[in-house]
Amino acid sequence: MKSLITGLALAMNAVLVAAPAHAQDKVLNLYSARHYQADEALYSNFTRATGIRINRIEAGDEALLERMRNEGKNSPADVILLVDAARLWKAETEGLFQPVRSKVLEERIPAFLRSHDEGKGSQWFGFSTRARVIVYNKQKIRPEQVQNYEDLARPELQGQVCTRSGAHPYMLSLIGAVSEHLGEARAEAWAKGVVGNFARSPRGGDTDQIKAVASGECGVALTNTYYFVRLMRSDKQADRDVVAKVGMVMPNQSSWGTHVNVSGAGVARNAPHRDAAVKFLEYLASDDAQIYFAVGNNEWPVVSSVVPKNPELDSLGKFKVDELPIGSIGRSQLTAAKIIDRAGWR
Ligand code: FE
Repeated sequence: MKSLITGLALAMNAVLVAAPAHAQDKVLNLYSARHYQADEALYSNFTRATGIRINRIEAGDEALLERMRNEGKNSPADVILLVDAARLWKAETEGLFQPVRSKVLEERIPAFLRSHDEGKGSQWFGFSTRARVIVYNKQKIRPEQVQNYEDLARPELQGQVCTRSGAHPYMLSLIGAVSEHLGEARAEAWAKGVVGNFARSPRGGDTDQIKAVASGECGVALTNTYYFVRLMRSDKQADRDVVAKVGMVMPNQSSWGTHVNVSGAGVARNAPHRDAAVKFLEYLASDDAQIYFAVGNNEWPVVSSVVPKNPELDSLGKFKVDELPIGSIGRSQLTAAKIIDRAGWR
């Protein structure tokens, strides 16, 4: 169904832009792994402001990348929008992006939340952030026991820890960040300790971990913040009941800070509408777009002057962010992948 609509949109586009030569700049092909309702308003506002219509191809991150590999030089993609540094970095190293010089993006997006074109000619920018935090069952665990990622390996948490597969990009990025801080050998010892504390073998997504903590099957787990806030804001009583049983810790506040990751985007390597693509990225960094982009999925804007109205998100409070460059977090997944293999974190 989705491809039918996309096909139709592309066909209509062909009719509409047939006449004037410069009209090719009036369309943008967006490959997006985001699929949130609030993003709709984001796209229509861009079209209203610029006259550039957006053809959207939505799929999972890996499916989008596979599509681009197959399309090669003929790919119609102008902008690629992905979640998590691990995936963005993968796309970067495969050369799926191109470098972008933009004063707007350089001024508005903090340097540690974008990749830097180190001669690779492939670059991307973070547009919203999420933190990877510890959740615990209030009946079973005291918050003092789980103040740090390292604590998940403490012997006293035997049989208490749940996570999704270590091979998932969210876990690869976190384990990679831990290895950046501790070094590979200590990070591996930590990973083995965590695996030794498993309450069950890894399965499910982040929301499943939170629910398993609430039910008491697990004492403690890891989740991205937006899944937790989504449950807080749910109109289902059962979801809010889950939240009531669960405490949340921003880890490593007295050391390197809580691991933060991004939703990010870059201009596609062979973008047919390059100017429109850069305009779209700059639009995503605007005040209004930052609010839509971030709050629609309960994330934080990357532009620090933007203050969204989201009381549940605000209730997580201010916290110390791990300011490891997001590019190095992406790269560290190679080490993380070795660690999870040796530790059996699958
Ligand atoms: Fe997610």
